[in-house]
Amino acid sequence: MSFSAIKGQDRPVEIIKTYIENSRIEGGYLFIGPEGIGKKMTALALAQALNCEEAKIEACGHCASCLKIENGQHPDVHLISGDEAQIKIEAIRQLQKEINLKAYEGVFKVFIIDNAHTLSAEAANCLLKILEEPPKKSLLILITEKPNLLFKTVISRCKILKFLPLKREALEGILKKDYKLDAQFAHFLAYFSEGRLGQALKLKGAGLLAKKNNLIDKFVLGPRPDTESLASQDKEEVRFSLNLLAAWFRDIYLLKAGLPEQEVINADRREELRRAVDSSSFLDLELAFTNISAAISYLEKNVNTRLLLFNLGMELWKA
Ligand SMILES: [Zn+2]
Repeated sequence: MSFSAIKGQDRPVEIIKTYIENSRIEGGYLFIGPEGIGKKMTALALAQALNCEEAKIEACGHCASCLKIENGQHPDVHLISGDEAQIKIEAIRQLQKEINLKAYEGVFKVFIIDNAHTLSAEAANCLLKILEEPPKKSLLILITEKPNLLFKTVISRCKILKFLPLKREALEGILKKDYKLDAQFAHFLAYFSEGRLGQALKLKGAGLLAKKNNLIDKFVLGPRPDTESLASQDKEEVRFSLNLLAAWFRDIYLLKAGLPEQEVINADRREELRRAVDSSSFLDLELAFTNISAAISYLEKNVNTRLLLFNLGMELWKA
């Protein structure tokens, strides 16, 4: 997990390398940017670089320290994640204890707090105290895609590094070259995942292109919307399918507004998109968006999915 493996984040990575070179990397850092673009990878590459036994800036990737970090087994590198729930005070108290101990094996103690916006108020307060006086040779890396939900006092104690998604065209190139995806699928993934490499990689298996086309054929282009096969999916899948549908209508809308054809997500269905551009009005398309996003928010509540999708199907079919 070296810095060179991180694609499209040249700016934050260069800044970090300069900090390491000048031995100015201590205290609190905040990595901001959308999910799935390499923030956590960069944090881990940084932890490796600081603790590598063989190299200084670009970690070797094969010494005992690098391997332990890669496998999540290094006693001085900790990952706290608020994936599901809030990060509670207990987790930060534990961090407080650990950070004040001497490093066991490594040179630097590194604490990565993923989804830092889920810190509870108490946990954030406790973290603030640590950030005010971080021990020498320790580093706290906070990661978030929602900095507006973080406490301002916490933000003010951190050096901020912004991560941006890749240009979609560039991601398409990477997916073709490095991941050997065919041109159509690479294009779809790059645009659907909005330039987020991590997101694209998550979606690259499991015949997504066929699934997406099947959905559009059955739900939008068919003689009548086939809501039954969609309703038999679980909630997560239904939500994902609704996002695929939203992308379809987005394409029609933007094409109608003059977006160049190579910029659409569903570039493999240009013929059908062109036809839809001619047959739908802006108002139809706005309604389609409204209906899809309403359906997505209704999904969160415990509504009858079958009925919800039936109604949505009828609305979209009219469009
Ligand atoms: Zn190493």
